[in-house]
Amino acid sequence: MNARADVILIGGGIFGQFAALTLAEAGRQVVLIDRAALWGEASSVNAGSLGVQNKLLELVPYARWSWEMWSRMAELLGADVGVSRAGGFRIAMTDVEAERLRVSALAQRATGLDVRLLDRGDLRAETPWLSREVVAATFSPEDGYASPTLVGPALRAAVAGAGVRIVEHARIASVRRRDGIEVETDRGAFRSRTLGITAGAWSAQCAAMLGVTLPIALDVNMVAVTESAPPTIGAMTSHARGILTLKQVANRSCLIGGGWQGIGTLDDRRKEVDYDQLVHNLRLAVRVVPGLACLNILRSWAGYEGVTPDSLPYLGRLGDYPDVFVGACARGGFTLGPLFGRLLGELIATGKTSRPIDLFNPRRFEYVESAHD
Ligand SMILES: Cc1cc2nc3c(=O)[nH]c(=O)nc-3n(C[C@H](O)[C@H](O)[C@H](O)COP(=O)(O)OP(=O)(O)OC[C@H]3O[C@@H](n4cnc5c(N)ncnc54)[C@H](O)[C@@H]3O)c2cc1C
Repeated sequence: MNARADVILIGGGIFGQFAALTLAEAGRQVVLIDRAALWGEASSVNAGSLGVQNKLLELVPYARWSWEMWSRMAELLGADVGVSRAGGFRIAMTDVEAERLRVSALAQRATGLDVRLLDRGDLRAETPWLSREVVAATFSPEDGYASPTLVGPALRAAVAGAGVRIVEHARIASVRRRDGIEVETDRGAFRSRTLGITAGAWSAQCAAMLGVTLPIALDVNMVAVTESAPPTIGAMTSHARGILTLKQVANRSCLIGGGWQGIGTLDDRRKEVDYDQLVHNLRLAVRVVPGLACLNILRSWAGYEGVTPDSLPYLGRLGDYPDVFVGACARGGFTLGPLFGRLLGELIATGKTSRPIDLFNPRRFEYVESAHD
């Protein structure tokens, strides 16, 4: 196999596939290479929250713009992918956290987000399923969730249907810039005019093949799911300190997440649940929603998430190269992935984006590095 294309994308999660779709729709020939099956890492194992109010303030407008795509996802992908927008709560269990929520809601409202504060009295009246340990909350009708399990096959079908050449289980031996881009894999060599790195937590390893250092730390996040239950969690719920996410999905099972850390390293791609940590996650869940106490956990799992030093994603040109781009590492990247994938596709296709991306310039940490020279 020795193929030419306009664009090669490395990594077929939500970023890579939405970038591929956008490029194909703009008439570009795209090769999407993944070293495993598409949709096999963070994009498939995440908790499915499409939260807006739990995002960093800078990312709130982006989450809302991404929702413009999520709201039309059934139409965009030609399939129901379990999108629900019933709103969500962000809760506080101490007065300090309540103050944090108040300040955060004011700032979020200034960006246009519909969010309101609830005090103890409001909570007792409106959310009897929340425990009395919850002292305050914010509610935004703009939060929701979707099913990563349903999005995966629907997105793949749309990408393949748009004419993208999908190359899976391909180990990349080298990436070179020599009169264009050359990617050597154990499934053949591919050439193109431009390259997009969309390899999630592994994007630093891909950038290193081109001699560029991209700072990315690793989180190993965990999720647990209960048996199917009667109505238990009234609406999607997250914690003011980002240590808990809860939702009850269409099949009536409850998903419990919140960034408690599992065990794993990137190199061997082995990740495991750390049960000591998971127990803390579950105890907190029960303190917030007591109805969870009587449910059995059916399954728990871990997944990798790449984290940048400022927790803002990378989106833009890599290093000094005019023909190499990166889109990776969004906190809440399932929520933001459709938009950021599309913006990356626009950037590669036209050199411009329909939303501002300066904040996400992958070169923003170069100054810090050279300051140590
Ligand atoms: C457990 C967990 C729960 C989460 N919950 C939520 C949530 O509820 N809501 C939310 O918004 N976000 C959530 N996230 C974050 C979100 O899932 C990620 O930010 C997002 O899916 C990242 O998408 P991606 O396309 O950048 O990366 P990935 O989905 O990880 O895709 C990267 C792809 O690159 C491929 N790849 C890597 N290296 C190479 C290489 N050298 N050559 C070829 N291919 C390569 C991989 O095989 C993979 O297919 C969660 C994450 C985890 C792990």
